[in-house]
Amino acid sequence: MAKYTGADCRQCRREGQKLFLKGERCTSKKCAVERRFGAPGQHGTGRKKPSEYQIQLREKQKVKRMYGVLEKQFRSYYTEASRIKGITGANMLFLLERRLDNVIYRMGIGSSRAQSRQIVNHGHVEINGKSVNIPAYIVKLGDVITIRENRKDNEYFKELKGAKIVMPKWVSFDTDSFVGKIIELPERTDIDARINEQLIVELYSK
Ligand code: SF4
Repeated sequence: MAKYTGADCRQCRREGQKLFLKGERCTSKKCAVERRFGAPGQHGTGRKKPSEYQIQLREKQKVKRMYGVLEKQFRSYYTEASRIKGITGANMLFLLERRLDNVIYRMGIGSSRAQSRQIVNHGHVEINGKSVNIPAYIVKLGDVITIRENRKDNEYFKELKGAKIVMPKWVSFDTDSFVGKIIELPERTDIDARINEQLIVELYSK
């Protein structure tokens, strides 16, 4: 019989795709999306054709959930992105991608964005030699990201030592020295191709 898989998995089921919210479980057969559970709730299946507004809204909710950002802050990324030269939707994704919690996730230090946020919150991370415990901190090109010296003996980081991690080309992280770097700024091709950021721009610009 199907087993309840928790609130995070409900979010993926609601969006009908993997949002990778639960670390290793997301790449295992236990994933609720892999197991083809439908949308949660009594009316999870058999919904009627969504309106344009509903499609835009769902896309925004999906990206918010992926990055673990609340509405007010998410909207502030849109506002900031619209002031930056270039394409607003892409700019918004670049800002989200450069959040420190996301960078820690991309470097493979945390297995999910939620866990990476905790790592930052708990003060394990330094940027350019200074402790930073703000998950929303936006990293810059060339920033050097390290695990604080007195935290390296923590059981979690001991297990990470020497691990082989696949990461996007714009970041590096050495699991022996625990030193990482922002090698280049992310490009659109570095970010989930399933996101249609234009739908979010259309929603917010109404
Ligand atoms: Fe749950 Fe992760 Fe699968 Fe989403 S991707 S349903 S969070 S296991």
